[in-house]
Amino acid sequence: MILDESPKVKPSDVDVYAAPQHPGMPPRALYVHVPFCLHRCGYCDFTLVADQDDLVPAYLEALGNELDRLDGEYEVDTIFIGGGTPTHLSIEQLERLASLLFGRFTLTSGGEFSVEANPDGLSNEVMKTLSDLGVNRLSLGVQSFDADVLQTLERQHTAADAQDVVCRAVDAFESVSLDLIFGVPGQTFDSWDATLEAARQFSISHVSTYGLTFEKGTDFYQRLQRGHIHAIPDDLERDMYAAAISQFGSAGMPQYEISNFARRGSECRHNMVYWQAQEYFAFGPGAARYVNGVRSTNARNVSRWINCWLTGKVALQEVEQLSGREKIREAIFLGLRLVDGIDITNFRDRFGTDVVDVARFSAQQHLADGLLAITEGHLRLTLEGRFLADTVMADFL
Ligand code: SF4
Repeated sequence: MILDESPKVKPSDVDVYAAPQHPGMPPRALYVHVPFCLHRCGYCDFTLVADQDDLVPAYLEALGNELDRLDGEYEVDTIFIGGGTPTHLSIEQLERLASLLFGRFTLTSGGEFSVEANPDGLSNEVMKTLSDLGVNRLSLGVQSFDADVLQTLERQHTAADAQDVVCRAVDAFESVSLDLIFGVPGQTFDSWDATLEAARQFSISHVSTYGLTFEKGTDFYQRLQRGHIHAIPDDLERDMYAAAISQFGSAGMPQYEISNFARRGSECRHNMVYWQAQEYFAFGPGAARYVNGVRSTNARNVSRWINCWLTGKVALQEVEQLSGREKIREAIFLGLRLVDGIDITNFRDRFGTDVVDVARFSAQQHLADGLLAITEGHLRLTLEGRFLADTVMADFL
């Protein structure tokens, strides 16, 4: 087993666009980041610019240059276009984006093609364009069906918009996923419960639920520091999470990951690549890739990323060559997010070590205190462990 320490590498020392070193085994997943939104919501710290649509043509040209820098053409099983709000682009711009991607990548027959979208202004024409381009999975940032919660979150759509868009989306796409947020200042348990109940009424196949976090640098973080808004009590947040597990479980969408619920067979294949610590391509500002054992993140400043690529310069923020030890720890950290946990035999075959031996003391302690369990040959978080997932997983880092 290799237990060397991992070096942070200078971006100029590694060509992250070089052809994957293992012929026949290149990454099978592609992520593309579209950094445009109408408005920056107060809690959002994603890589994006708000109300700067004049930058879209330059972004598309820069994206084309970044894609051209990749050595080779590849077939992938999953494509995920995330943001920002990809559907903030016009129909012509979405078509241009797709033609850039398909100049370098092909999607395997039966592959998963996801696009993130927001309910505001999502017309039937845009949905038809996406569907014509091959998109078969729409991930909708609904967040809530409660008007007060949407207003607190500064979302640009109403509860009625969300209801209307979800109805139309389930007719237009093979698979529809909803993003929902709990733990919003002022949000009550009844409000969250009603949102869960509303989501259950649709013929959707997937839901992601996120507890609101107050990220440094966001407007919400400032307001929290000044006492203008307040986090909800921990026990209420825990009850909200428990309600999601229970409600979606009884609606035929059991939890399969810390934040995700799906009908059997509708789990997000793209995100599974991340949780199984497999490699993937990525393009666009702030996008993070994992190729040839190297994790790298593109420049997060959108203008800097555009300007670099328009002048033929690579725009990287961080590059990290993972050591054997880090690959192992990451595989545990990510794998424990899955309800099925980590297949002990597969892990030993892949890394040449027993998963429980990696952090023996912590693993034994959490097995004893009931936060971890070994069942059916898998090491996994128990239900109780999922409520304390961050603490348990941190012990493996
Ligand atoms: S719509 Fe989504 S990506 Fe855009 S600012 Fe709001 S939370 Fe962030």
